[in-house]
Amino acid sequence: MNVRKKLENLNIEKRAYINGEFVEAENRKTIEKISSIDGLIISGIAACDDVDVNKAVEFAKKSFYSGSWSMLPPSEKKIILLKLADLMEKNREELALLDTYETGRSYQNYFYDSIPKAIEVVRYFAEAVDKYYDKAIPPRGSEFGVIIRVPLGVVGAITPWNDPLVVAAWKFAPALLMGNSIVMKPAEQSSLSILKVAALTREAGIPSGVFNVVTGYGEVAGKALALHKDVRGIFFTGSSTTGKRILEYSGQSNMKKVALECGGKGPYIVTNNCSNLAEAAKVLADNMFYNQGQICSAPSRVIIDKSKFNDFIKYLKLECERYVPGDPYDTDNNVGCVVSPEQYHKIQKYIQQAKDEGAEVYQAQNKKLHSEKACCIQPTIISNISIMSKVVVEEIFGPVVVVLPVEGVDEALSIANSSDYGLAGAVWTDDLDEAYYVARNIETGLVHINSYGNDDNSAPFGGVKESGLGKDKSLYSFDEYSDLKTIWFHSRNYQR
Ligand code: NAD
Repeated sequence: MNVRKKLENLNIEKRAYINGEFVEAENRKTIEKISSIDGLIISGIAACDDVDVNKAVEFAKKSFYSGSWSMLPPSEKKIILLKLADLMEKNREELALLDTYETGRSYQNYFYDSIPKAIEVVRYFAEAVDKYYDKAIPPRGSEFGVIIRVPLGVVGAITPWNDPLVVAAWKFAPALLMGNSIVMKPAEQSSLSILKVAALTREAGIPSGVFNVVTGYGEVAGKALALHKDVRGIFFTGSSTTGKRILEYSGQSNMKKVALECGGKGPYIVTNNCSNLAEAAKVLADNMFYNQGQICSAPSRVIIDKSKFNDFIKYLKLECERYVPGDPYDTDNNVGCVVSPEQYHKIQKYIQQAKDEGAEVYQAQNKKLHSEKACCIQPTIISNISIMSKVVVEEIFGPVVVVLPVEGVDEALSIANSSDYGLAGAVWTDDLDEAYYVARNIETGLVHINSYGNDDNSAPFGGVKESGLGKDKSLYSFDEYSDLKTIWFHSRNYQR
């Protein structure tokens, strides 16, 4: 079935959401972009600037100090966020359509995977919040202390386009549940689904000013938010280059708390003790190609023992055929387009560079092209390439995996850790001691053993090195969106 026509029935909101109302950018400017699906123009999304950001922050601050949300007991916040999750569920089709329309990722993938995941994130945090305790310093004579977590106040969230609502939910759910008011700045490539969620927050009962969405360009609206003096925390997911800027903005303004989830170049180590190469290749393809490789934690560097190289490549070539891209609106297609013509050309440039360097470049054989203008890239395997090549070192953010043969597990680790990134990785081996050795020594925030990507909301997610700092997901996330405060009590009376 092709669901494109269903878009025509939607009343798509393209204005910013500030203080409970949808409003145009004060400057009346809008964003214009070219769809990667068919080359048509997508236009009309408010291109907010610092004026709108200031307004959103001011209302967010007012709402925070009014206590209308921040002082609600956790159990009441929980009920409202569970209602929001239910409303998202009810609007799942629309959310999936909006994200497909803007990002070119397949509707099937949004409807069955990404949107349900975002809903689960909201439920996970909502269900957890009223079961969480703060800490006490045990009484000592007349002294007693408690350590509590207090909301930061107004927080900003700047999010990317590759998994719009999942990443947004990782941030707004714990932020709201800790009592903060929030200003979201979605990527200019994917603003519509979070605007729909904004409407749903109103329906769920989140008071005006507590949840705001300021759409617009990163260098304008995102920068203004990250530089704002009244914003007490900025929570960012995106490229490492922008992440470094966010750190600077914090230093240039008010030393606001910063958490960064940035890029990756996931090492996927397969040792000579791995007997199930077919499974290793299948799991790699599942995690590398499902969103045209536009996944921060994608296992994009296979580091494999020489003895296993040929067999693994054989299996991987077969797996590529399951991820051939096609019309994203066709519900039979699991893979759609890359996000934009710019992203398409950037990825093609890397592939061409590998060819120019004499590397072996293999691409899936089947084709499902639906439009001359479609920006789709075949799953691509690159081998016989120098470990110094840009293609091996840089994050491509496309369906391109490099396969690097090594001798022994120490060489594998040394190559894995030579990257500036350190988000997620894996080791495939039948030897438990070897698995532990690699897991212990690999420099990534998350490491999978004989698996990839099936960690759930209970697992903290975030990188080391230039993959960022701070954690999304898990109960640790509540700590990100709060400050620790100590209340020290000295009793003067009733002493024994
Ligand atoms: P990007 O850094 O270009 O943009 C991310 C967000 O930052 C967008 O909202 C953008 O508008 C905003 N932005 C851009 N410049 C800004 C500035 N100067 N000041 C403030 N905000 C600014 O990244 P992208 O291309 O949208 O996303 C792809 C990147 O995101 C990849 O590197 C990917 O690895 C990373 N990513 C990481 C994770 C993770 O959890 N670690 C998840 C998804 C994506």
